[in-house]
Amino acid sequence: MQDDRQEWDATHEVIVVGSGAGALTGALMAAADGLDTVVLERTELVGGTSAYSGAACWLPGTQVQERADLDDSTEAARNYLRALLGDAEEERREAFLRHAPELVARLERDPAVQFQWQAFPDYVAAPGRMDAGRSFIPLDLPQDELGDLLPLVRPAVDRDRAGQGHPDAPLAQGRALIGRLLLAAVRTGNATVRTEHRVTGLITEDGRVTGVEAQTPHGTVRVRARRGVLLAAGGFEGDDTLRAEHGVPGGAAWTMAPRGTNTGDLLRAAVEIGAATALLDEAWWCPGTERPDGTAAFTLGLRGGLVVDGSGRRFANESLPYDRMGRAIAAAGGAQSPTYLIFDSREGGALPAITVPPADPGENLAAGTWVRADSLDELAALIGVPADALSDTVARFNGFAATGTDEDHHRGEDPYDRFFANRRNAGPNPCLVPVDQPPYYAARLVLSDLGTKGGLRTDVHARVLDTEGRPVPGLYAAGNTSASFTSRVYPGPGVPLGTAMVAASLAVGHMTEVSADDGLVRQPTA
Ligand code: FAD
Repeated sequence: MQDDRQEWDATHEVIVVGSGAGALTGALMAAADGLDTVVLERTELVGGTSAYSGAACWLPGTQVQERADLDDSTEAARNYLRALLGDAEEERREAFLRHAPELVARLERDPAVQFQWQAFPDYVAAPGRMDAGRSFIPLDLPQDELGDLLPLVRPAVDRDRAGQGHPDAPLAQGRALIGRLLLAAVRTGNATVRTEHRVTGLITEDGRVTGVEAQTPHGTVRVRARRGVLLAAGGFEGDDTLRAEHGVPGGAAWTMAPRGTNTGDLLRAAVEIGAATALLDEAWWCPGTERPDGTAAFTLGLRGGLVVDGSGRRFANESLPYDRMGRAIAAAGGAQSPTYLIFDSREGGALPAITVPPADPGENLAAGTWVRADSLDELAALIGVPADALSDTVARFNGFAATGTDEDHHRGEDPYDRFFANRRNAGPNPCLVPVDQPPYYAARLVLSDLGTKGGLRTDVHARVLDTEGRPVPGLYAAGNTSASFTSRVYPGPGVPLGTAMVAASLAVGHMTEVSADDGLVRQPTA
């Protein structure tokens, strides 16, 4: 909205909208550079989906991989991304690769922000892939280190959605990442966090974004930014209207983003002032086991079982990386009607997979999201698939388990498949475990997502572009508010967070005008 009034409720150098890992990295970088920075967060809690996450950060060629003695490099990651993405978005990709090592060095210079490598294979077989993985996670953070900031950090997904997990445990994974970035930013003395500030409008003066309008419990406030506004407020996964408008399958009920967070406010606000968008039908997909309350649990790392569609047939390698399995589920119609994870009793009736949050068999059976039967024919009747087809499918799969070769979908041939396999499985292929111990189970498997990945078009400095391809002065975007340069590919664990963190840092580098013209070279000042 063009602004003709000159009244502001507050003025800062930098406004960061949202409080996920990208937002807080941007806030930390700006505050460490001595810039008065405010973080405006819609909910009462800081962290968004980033706090729910495993906190794997795909930031190649840094001192963390070096410490772990990994045979990795920026060049290897460059080859990998080129193999997956071709020439598309090469400049942004290059900005990411070149800035990642510098960002991590700068982050770790603060004792509050420390990382360690964690094995988790890259997701696609291509040159430059790291079979053991190249992403890393933050160290756990004892609760007392956060002091007064502790109640601000969003609980882990297990607790937030299912009331599970110990409330006094150290902050781990996504909470540790958020807690560490928040602590470091606030400790600079230059960063303020304002929760319950829902930004709904961008204020422009002569074509430059100079501030935002936010809804608070006390009414609307207008906040001015002298240098720039960084939008890092997630995607629009929580808004069914926008999802339908842009053809994003799945639904707000099945997304893994926290309830009441990411509904595309900033996408709408930026488009209103002329911003361009890209990739709006995309998301970071995953399978979700449907939960008794109608939400979904992120499901990955299958140790057993097999997945069938409504015809009772397998349609994919069930051990695929979750984004690719999500795409397979969508192609099999799983965005409209469920597919099913079929498993037996060899794990005592527990689901042979990781689910976030964990699944309770009793609750699911009572709710009908899982069913159980003594025979495959009865199971088929309960889920409404042809009994002959299901029996044939399971018999054929059990044959593959005996020979060790999945002739249909090649399960177990990729290092990612084997990463989650139970090594104690006796057969020739640890990913192919026979389904032959009754009673049998079927769990409803739907298309879930970790957030949308299309959004505002940005350049190498994370500047938002208008529909003519020109930067909108004063406006930057990172994370799922922006369109990912990874297009329709999810290269490896930690790409959403890693790319969000780098984009936010590049944005702040541009705002401070310390960066060189290409936005890549920036001498740390703290
Ligand atoms: P978010 O982290 O969701 O932050 C957006 C914030 O903006 C929210 O707090 C929201 O309330 C706020 N907001 C929204 N609208 C407004 C508004 N109008 N005004 C003010 N504030 C607003 N990715 C990885 O890279 N590595 C992993 O290990 C990983 N593990 C995952 C595990 C799980 C269980 C899940 C669910 C996801 C995982 N992901 C992982 C995906 C990753 O967490 C998300 O893609 C990423 O956190 C998105 O970051 P973001 O900053 O775009 O959004």
